[in-house]
Amino acid sequence: MAAFREGINIELALQVKTIIIDKEPSEISAISVVFPDTAIQLCSFHVSRVLNDKTSKEPEAKPTIYQLRGTIENTEFQNLVKELEVKSSPTFFPYFEENWINCPQGWGNRDKMKSITFGNTTTNRVENHSSKIKMVLNCHSTLSEVIEKLLEIVKNKDEDVLYRDVIENLKDTARNFGVGTPSLASNTNPVLKQILQDLTKFSAKLQIWEHDSAPDEEEMAYYDSTESECCCLLFWSFELPCRHIYQKRRQAGL
Ligand SMILES: [Zn+2]
Repeated sequence: MAAFREGINIELALQVKTIIIDKEPSEISAISVVFPDTAIQLCSFHVSRVLNDKTSKEPEAKPTIYQLRGTIENTEFQNLVKELEVKSSPTFFPYFEENWINCPQGWGNRDKMKSITFGNTTTNRVENHSSKIKMVLNCHSTLSEVIEKLLEIVKNKDEDVLYRDVIENLKDTARNFGVGTPSLASNTNPVLKQILQDLTKFSAKLQIWEHDSAPDEEEMAYYDSTESECCCLLFWSFELPCRHIYQKRRQAGL
């Protein structure tokens, strides 16, 4: 872990805001030492798998745990913990309390909101990359083979990105000629035009989706946002305006 920190250089290391891992105690200890100011979140996929397994004989507790993962409010979280204690078997609740309620790493939305993730909540991307490395390297590979194969993987990745960009541009061109759904670039709304100009395509699509969504009064009351800040997961994960902020701005005539 220390070698990794050194390898990406100290300035970049200081910018690492969040690390997502499986619930592996040795990894958590190493990260806490080498990246003391970085938030640790647990992979959503891994958490689901473990909790599904652990609650297979706890049908009463399962829905409450699902709610615990989803809530963003601490008061609601604490009330659900009390509810869980009533619904759990005598052996399950002590396990859950020790391993999850007292777990300092983010595994539910309440704690995940404390750090930025750009919407990535699993280790799937890293696992995918790791499986490609394992396909071309093994314990008998020489140093020169390792370097050669790793460079090949990077080159293939670059070519994948280029291919996807070309396909996207072709689709945009087709849309401009009226084939398929209208292109984002043909939007005439000045706010959306500015979004498209300032952000990457991925972020712009997300922002236009949020801008065009119309949350109802109940949802607006729940998040109680202002015209620049919100407590919903999207705002904290991306540090970009969400549907609630856009709605507030519309209501204020901005
Ligand atoms: Zn929001």
